[in-house]
Amino acid sequence: MPNVAAMRQSAAASSPSFPATAAACVDELARLEDRKAEIAARQARVTAHLSSLCPGSSDRSLGAQVGLARRESPYRGRRLLTLARGLDHGHPEVLALLEDGTLNERRAELICTETDTLDIDQRRDADRAIARLITENPEWGDRTIEHEARRVTMQADPDGSTARREQAQAGRHVSARSKGDGTGLVTGTVPDHEMVAIIASLEESAESLRASGDDRTRAQITADLFVERLTGQSVAAATPVHIELVVPVATLLAEGDEPAEVHGLGPVPAPVARRLALASPDGATRVRRLFAQPGRLVAMESSTQLFDGLLRSFVGLRDRRCRTPWCDAPIRHHDHVVQRRSGGATSAANAQGQCESCSYTKEEQGWTHQVVRTDVDGVHEVEIATPTGHRYRSRAPTPPGDVVPPEPAGRSEAVSDGATPPDGPGVGAEDGDTDPAPGDAA
Ligand SMILES: [Zn+2]
Repeated sequence: MPNVAAMRQSAAASSPSFPATAAACVDELARLEDRKAEIAARQARVTAHLSSLCPGSSDRSLGAQVGLARRESPYRGRRLLTLARGLDHGHPEVLALLEDGTLNERRAELICTETDTLDIDQRRDADRAIARLITENPEWGDRTIEHEARRVTMQADPDGSTARREQAQAGRHVSARSKGDGTGLVTGTVPDHEMVAIIASLEESAESLRASGDDRTRAQITADLFVERLTGQSVAAATPVHIELVVPVATLLAEGDEPAEVHGLGPVPAPVARRLALASPDGATRVRRLFAQPGRLVAMESSTQLFDGLLRSFVGLRDRRCRTPWCDAPIRHHDHVVQRRSGGATSAANAQGQCESCSYTKEEQGWTHQVVRTDVDGVHEVEIATPTGHRYRSRAPTPPGDVVPPEPAGRSEAVSDGATPPDGPGVGAEDGDTDPAPGDAA
């Protein structure tokens, strides 16, 4: 297990020397960028080779392993797997441009994404055409490269490009994300002509309200109209909400300023927490108040076979996001770490919150999960072993108001010892809700 404190100390002891002049600094930045691109090309080749060594593995399982190794989410790991195969099989010239630093990883990915509907011969042709354009125009930015790759793809396969638009439109959805500063982002992925209609309608109404004397800014009016039209309320602020608030007792009594936690949103400042916790019950905001003691949220057990009711809420509040390291997707499944048929209890200690994708990955060949720590003070740690024998630890986040444990600081850490996975009990996902919110893992 890497000792973070020791690594920091050794980094500080060998602090690097810096270039003497500004010009030399700029030169070094450019050289480092070349090396990053070269490393990205090597990672793509190694990933494609890994894929060829594991013909029986699903993309879900392989992508999750790539994600864990690169400290990225499983969703991102799967994207990187697709990118690596695309570069290795279909884009030898683009891969060479990545290797020599003409392209970076992000731009190579934009190209591969645009061409991924082409068959292998068309893709190789597109590869040559795009590589020639980029060699002639090395100053092109992300957007230009994306558009030019799309243009080449559309020309090579007009029917496929049309089908791709239709497929993208069939995947329309709405997703939401808290920005953590008291605002949130609602993203509607809709057909492009509808996007134009939505914006035109909001701006037109905002203009006419401004003209009749409304003193809010145009941006504020469009945001308020957006909420009012979607919720059916006549005033945006009147929209009723239901929130779950975990607040330290000291914060509630105004004896401390430890931030509280709003489930699904993240931390909120102490004064906001107090205002929410003391909100009038007949007000528009319904608040379920849960008070974190200096100990932890108490452990719970259920006599049923499902994680439901308070136990389900407890696991959601304890884990907050999917427990897979670096995943961070919202929890969709409340899973038994050790499956019930293998003797696992329906208890908080044997529970973990997972996103839908990670819950299914756990079912794949060669993956095992086990609880390695569940202390009286509430620390909950799960070890994940992958098909290659690598192990990763996931620790539930510290509740608000709690004493931060001395080490490690992160909620998850990777342990890569290459050891054979233990013959742990089987694991399973058998009681999750399965509403697939598209874009969750994005
Ligand atoms: Zn996940």
